[in-house]
Amino acid sequence: MTARPIIANTREELSEALASRGEIGFVPTMGALHDGHASLLTRARSEVGESGAVVASIFVNPLQFGVGEDLDRYPRTLEADLMICADHGVDVVFVPDVTQVYPDGDPEVTINPGPKAEILEGAARPGHFAGVLTVVAKLFGLLGPDVAVFGEKDYQQLKVVTRMAADLDLRLDVIGVPTVREPDGLALSSRNVYLSAEERARAPALHRVLRECAARIVEGKPLAAVTTDGAAELERTGFVVDYLAARHAETLAPIDSAADGPIRLLVAARLGKTRLIDNIGV
Ligand code: AMP
Repeated sequence: MTARPIIANTREELSEALASRGEIGFVPTMGALHDGHASLLTRARSEVGESGAVVASIFVNPLQFGVGEDLDRYPRTLEADLMICADHGVDVVFVPDVTQVYPDGDPEVTINPGPKAEILEGAARPGHFAGVLTVVAKLFGLLGPDVAVFGEKDYQQLKVVTRMAADLDLRLDVIGVPTVREPDGLALSSRNVYLSAEERARAPALHRVLRECAARIVEGKPLAAVTTDGAAELERTGFVVDYLAARHAETLAPIDSAADGPIRLLVAARLGKTRLIDNIGV
């Protein structure tokens, strides 16, 4: 038996739904939920226990989309999302519209995500992390969570959110959860529905190449050669590569050799019109 979660559409409904709760475990999402999101919900429950409350938000945040990105066509599957939340014992789902989140229009004051947001995804998507951190900070303010759970799928996002919580003393734990994948290795993503059948068949190469790169690094091959070869292999498979980089797993700074690790391999590449990202530890 699964109890239906309380659905809060407004700030007032959210406050009411959260009154006299125990610890709050929060999972922010943009909806179109899949098993990756579900694993975050499960982790949030295990963090707060049965006496706590698991809260998911579903909000496609315009502030984190650039001009020409997929804001208007981002998949919206609210009924199915609510079923997944119910199946995972979520207590409250916050589903605000833009006017609830930004009642005065675009905020005058936003979060500066710092130097980690200038590189990789930040370089490819200017303003993206400022938009992410601003909405995440607002949601933290509205909910007052004790724990917030994010996916390693968006590894750089996990690192900038963690850093924001530390640098701004937000008094909550930010927890990262490993990426959930399809059996063929493709990371689950709400954007995978954009792929044609033919692109979907090629897409697992992204993870396969990351694993091959990791294996070569472990064998002692130079990082620069490994990432250059990996990007070339992806291009042969039909991807247009934005970046394939070996970075320090915590700082995301470039590193020259495996001895300077721990290493995280991060990739962003386009298949047709669809931009996919992935990453693995070495
Ligand atoms: P999104 O709805 O895509 O903004 O993602 C909401 C949260 O789910 C983020 O913390 C993502 O990192 C996480 N997430 C998305 N896909 C996956 C996945 N395949 N495995 C684990 N977490 C994921």
